[in-house]
Amino acid sequence: MFYAGDKPGKGTYICTECKHRIIIEDDNDKLPICPFCQCAEWKKVESPSQ
Ligand SMILES: [Zn+2]
Repeated sequence: MFYAGDKPGKGTYICTECKHRIIIEDDNDKLPICPFCQCAEWKKVESPSQ
């Protein structure tokens, strides 16, 4: 599990509450607070389907 403010590295992350997905494209980017539900917990999507 990752939290808002973490720098987890490039990848796709999914909000544990509302399942909103975000993409981190830079290793220096921080995870935000979820804009939809204000949740601060994110789970990494290991195999993003693109
Ligand atoms: Zn959310």
